[in-house]
Amino acid sequence: MSYSKKVNELFHSQLKEWELARLNYSQLNAVRTKIIDFGTFKILVQFNPERMRSSAAKVDAKSIESRPCFLCSENRPSDQRGVAFDQNMTILVNPYPIFQRHLTITSEEHKDQRILQNFGTMLALAEAIPDFVVFYNGPECGASAPDHLHFQAGNSGLMPLEEDFFNGSHTRLLSVIKGVELWHWYNYLRGIVSMQGSDREALNEIFQGFYQKFSLIQNDKPEPMLNILVSRYKKDWVIHIIPRKVHRPVQFFLEGDDKILLSPASVDLGGVIITPREEDFLKITKDDIAGIFSQVCFDESEITYLFSQIL
Ligand SMILES: [Zn+2]
Repeated sequence: MSYSKKVNELFHSQLKEWELARLNYSQLNAVRTKIIDFGTFKILVQFNPERMRSSAAKVDAKSIESRPCFLCSENRPSDQRGVAFDQNMTILVNPYPIFQRHLTITSEEHKDQRILQNFGTMLALAEAIPDFVVFYNGPECGASAPDHLHFQAGNSGLMPLEEDFFNGSHTRLLSVIKGVELWHWYNYLRGIVSMQGSDREALNEIFQGFYQKFSLIQNDKPEPMLNILVSRYKKDWVIHIIPRKVHRPVQFFLEGDDKILLSPASVDLGGVIITPREEDFLKITKDDIAGIFSQVCFDESEITYLFSQIL
């Protein structure tokens, strides 16, 4: 049976058997969304109170050490079931969804969130569930379990980034290396480089090359700060790499009216901003979003320079 079919069946049975999942997925139908128009592209803002635990998660070493890990199998809810993937991974229904179909794909082993050795798994996942965008939040880039390797996936079609890549109004071809197209984004508020190609080895090699260069700039970190989104398009993988400067914007730490509780991760940078508090959903403006993106991401010319190093 294909993974797509297994995942469909998993959703079907979990939404029947598991009260928490059923409740949260049915509430998602009523979730409020607003569209912020930037002219040539748009950003969605989703008011999603259930995401508070993720957005406000304490991810410092001390807090992480003192809590039971919610991704370890012995601590998962008793009603949560999974589909085994690739030796040591399990595909789970995410009980706090942003997407109509939202998965967490977790390692069966409790080990640190790291991408370098697991990039191939991400490609394999995207290939196995082609109706989904698979995404990775680095340990200081939105992952609420930085100590336990995992990916997430959401059904295609929600994040504006996906469509914006194919309509080409913000992308320019930088280069073609070993059959892999490297695309640079412009006038898009955040520095992104995208790769498109069908050669798994070549994609892996280019990613590793980029990773090595980027780690030189952020050599005080457990790994260079990254959000990554991967999907399948025909026989190709489409990979969006979003290098990060900081974990959370200043607004996150302010008090009173100036506070915006927003902790950007792959989905936010993919164009769906999650606000767990209603007041933030109502008040957030275009300028706030531009300001937050410019704090947490590299700008477009910096990204081009980073990538020119590996060309
Ligand atoms: Zn764990």
